Amino acid sequence: MRSIEKLFKVELPLEELLKLDGSVSDNIQNIINEAKKEASYGFNLPVMNEIIKQSEKIGKLTWSHKQIKSCDYCDKKSDYYTYPRSGKYHRKGDKNWNKPIYYSGIKFNEGFVSIQGHGDMCLGCCDRHKVKERLIDYIIEKDLKIQIMRNEYRQGTYLKDDIRICFNCDEEMLESQMSKERTMMGNGFYPSGCPKCGSKSIPFGRNHKVTNKFGFIKNPESCVEVVKIKELLSEYNKEKLGDDRLNFNQSSQSINTFSIKEEKWSNGYKEVLQFTTNSKKFVVGHTYKDKCENFKQLLLNHGYTEN
Ligand SMILES: [Zn+2]
Ligand SMILES: [Zn+2]
Repeated sequence: MRSIEKLFKVELPLEELLKLDGSVSDNIQNIINEAKKEASYGFNLPVMNEIIKQSEKIGKLTWSHKQIKSCDYCDKKSDYYTYPRSGKYHRKGDKNWNKPIYYSGIKFNEGFVSIQGHGDMCLGCCDRHKVKERLIDYIIEKDLKIQIMRNEYRQGTYLKDDIRICFNCDEEMLESQMSKERTMMGNGFYPSGCPKCGSKSIPFGRNHKVTNKFGFIKNPESCVEVVKIKELLSEYNKEKLGDDRLNFNQSSQSINTFSIKEEKWSNGYKEVLQFTTNSKKFVVGHTYKDKCENFKQLLLNHGYTEN
């Protein structure tokens, strides 16, 4: 009992633990299964196993920076500022219990409920143990169905595709299959039309029912050619200053369409190149016809054709 208690950090009455015939109860079996699954990820920081397990459940890996009171992985312990001067109820150097010391920390997969001052670790430990990078590498290399938050390091293979139920025909649909409408502000698009019956959701009007079910689609940003184009672009930008740098964008209307743009004060946007990963087509902006050979060549090498 004692060792199992220690191992799984649970307290259960003995009769729960062992049935009369000596077999383990379902309850225990579940805990063992969960623990085995967690251990199977094999990270040396237990919290990383927990994060991956949770990500598999919710289909996402996200993180945010937050102020934390202590870190389990270094000497940043919960503490308080001291009074700089003596006062009526305290002496100089006494701890001020109203003023906890906060450290810069990180919390993975924070849900709707956020506990103030609590995170997974401090930023220093996160960097030192390369926690973010190792979680991302693990998810990609094991091909786990998890959407990884957009980041500077490496883009995930999958995007979570929420399932909704049509208010008209009651059929389930994937968000990626819904037709798109322009937002009221005109600055983007939102999924609106049912792929089966065509019923459209209206802002402040009828809406397709949200569920907590989801599927996955391939993340076009993880395509080799997209990764390579971005590398080429940052190489190009290294030698340029301010205005002369080129920008990389993903279309707000279609996640499969990417473009490289020139953005100058004098002439606004100028398209250098636009390409679409699912149709494998690309277009070169007319002022760039002979000026972006290396970008063109890269796409041609990946089976693209020029439009
Ligand atoms: Zn730390
Ligand atoms: Zn419908």
